[in-house]
Amino acid sequence: MQEKLCDLIIIGTGPAGLSAAIYSQRQGLSATVFGDTPGGNLYMIESVKNYPGFHEGVPGMQLGIFMYSQAQSEGANFTMTNVGSLEKSGERFVAKDTSGNIYSAPLAIIAAGSTPKRLNVQNAALDGIHYCALCDGPLYRGKNAVIIVVGGGDRGGHLCVFLSKIARQVILIDKGSSLKMSAAQQKAVAMAENVEVLLNTEVQAFIGENELKGVLVSSPDGQRKELSADALFMSIGWAPNVSMMRFPVAATPEGFLKTDAKLMTSCAGLFAAGDVRDSDLKQIVTSCADGARAATHAAEFIQLKQYTANGHNLNFQ
Ligand SMILES: Cc1cc2nc3c(=O)[nH]c(=O)nc-3n(C[C@H](O)[C@H](O)[C@H](O)COP(=O)(O)OP(=O)(O)OC[C@H]3O[C@@H](n4cnc5c(N)ncnc54)[C@H](O)[C@@H]3O)c2cc1C
Repeated sequence: MQEKLCDLIIIGTGPAGLSAAIYSQRQGLSATVFGDTPGGNLYMIESVKNYPGFHEGVPGMQLGIFMYSQAQSEGANFTMTNVGSLEKSGERFVAKDTSGNIYSAPLAIIAAGSTPKRLNVQNAALDGIHYCALCDGPLYRGKNAVIIVVGGGDRGGHLCVFLSKIARQVILIDKGSSLKMSAAQQKAVAMAENVEVLLNTEVQAFIGENELKGVLVSSPDGQRKELSADALFMSIGWAPNVSMMRFPVAATPEGFLKTDAKLMTSCAGLFAAGDVRDSDLKQIVTSCADGARAATHAAEFIQLKQYTANGHNLNFQ
């Protein structure tokens, strides 16, 4: 099949990819955007309450459609297919989509987001099981709720402290014999009086019909018990969506892409934006900002040849 040429390949139709599409089109780059879900993860969010400009909240799906329509009206080309593979061919990036179409461009932005790691146990799809405390935690404010947090890393510790101000009680469960969070985070958890920590405790099943009512857990002594809860927040990690990449790029051990101050990866001409990137805050507003910045620096890169493959001297930690 013949290669279709464009200036910029964008992988992902979430807030990062759509913002990148808007900004690149406005800077004169022709963008081809891959992804079959306009708005990306936004479709999962009932009401977005922390995106500036919508003080009463906005359904995630609607916000995603707004962003998608805006990118479309700027002239971005949407394939509505996923990228099966992204390869490097000389100075160009070559994307093969799931329908067999092949696109090539001198620039690419990976904005493919990440997927929350889930537990493969019974009833994992009940209402009341959440993956974003900043987003869904406030739903339980004033409800005298008991909330379980699964995962005792730094993020889990942060969630506990955040949720302890909302819930009547927070129970932190970790299957390990100690918490993996930093000493400072452990201290913050210990200072929150309504947080109970259960170590050596593993989730066996979620309990409930449609809504979560509790969790069945086991401990190493073989005992199983039920913990009642109104909500549960998973914090066992997120996996970046990078399986389409066929060439090596600097990344964290979990696979999140490392970038320089201009959001370029260790591969010249390849940028990363949004949740797929190694960053400290993964939210809609930061993903939009990433997309705008990646597109702007991609345009700058191609126009000024500010970086070259040889002179590409980045400082990755
Ligand atoms: C349940 C939930 C609630 C949340 N609530 C909030 C909230 O209230 N406020 C807030 O600010 N943030 C919230 N977030 C976080 C927010 O959704 C993310 O930070 C944001 O969507 C990240 O944007 P993104 O564009 O980087 O990635 P995503 O939104 O994940 O979009 C990436 C897209 O790329 C697609 N993709 C992956 N691989 C490929 C491929 N090979 N080819 C083509 N496409 C591909 C994915 O399928 C996805 O559609 C929530 C997240 C979840 C899961």
